[in-house]
Amino acid sequence: MTEHPARRLLLVHAHPDDESINNGATMARYAAEGAQVTLVTCTLGERGEVIPPELAHLSGAALGQWRLGELRAAMRALGVTDFRLLGGAGRYGDSGMMGLPDNDDPHCFWQADLDEAAGHLVRVILEIRPQVLVTYDDNGGYGHPDHIQAHRVALRAAELAAGAGWEIPRICFNRVPRPVAEAAFARLEGDLPGLPFDKSAAVDDVPGVVGEERVAIEIDGTAYAAAKAAAMRAHATQIEVAEPYFALSNALAQPLFTTEYYEVVHGERTEGRAHDLFAGIEATA
Ligand SMILES: [Zn+2]
Repeated sequence: MTEHPARRLLLVHAHPDDESINNGATMARYAAEGAQVTLVTCTLGERGEVIPPELAHLSGAALGQWRLGELRAAMRALGVTDFRLLGGAGRYGDSGMMGLPDNDDPHCFWQADLDEAAGHLVRVILEIRPQVLVTYDDNGGYGHPDHIQAHRVALRAAELAAGAGWEIPRICFNRVPRPVAEAAFARLEGDLPGLPFDKSAAVDDVPGVVGEERVAIEIDGTAYAAAKAAAMRAHATQIEVAEPYFALSNALAQPLFTTEYYEVVHGERTEGRAHDLFAGIEATA
């Protein structure tokens, strides 16, 4: 039997860059602490809009390969060595934004057969036997088809794996407490004149914003803020970073959160807010 670290974390994301934006500090922390951190990314994000003019020529498969290189660099910055593409690189194509004809491409992730896609992830789950799975809520955080599909595939795979020998004890969704987001955007308004961005996004542009009471786990990533920012910078086609802010291709400034928050949607949550994804879970080989 393969030797596993005692604590094992699996994260399922839609595109290269989502992991660093949502969970960069968390991934860096657990990698530094010797936990197994496994990232499964579902597509190469080859329909993403490219920010730097000098890379604007990249599109389709060439952009996907470029973003795979960005993902490798981001994982180096976070100290994460186990990252995989669902079904292998290029198995599922980026579906583009909701409502576009791209969504109908038979190769795209949105059109994937749920059980087939989940099957690839079940094999990873049975190999790693993670105690914690992190993914998006059922709206994918903000409605992107690949994020919604990543949610569906992650939960379906967890269900199938439970029937095949490994029930993941805790499943979490990425969250930001509304008061935290509101305070950060209030600061951003004051800081905006000094930033390389002309306008700011709004609280409701941030994926996964919910009331405080739904947030069960808070990971203070202050010690890993530099690693998270470096990982986000590695995704240069998608993200422009000006700490403690960043912008996507819409050029709207938003806060770069180094404390990351989670809702527990499967398994026990601890009494009060925990500061460890594995809190209350017995580590097993
Ligand atoms: Zn994404």
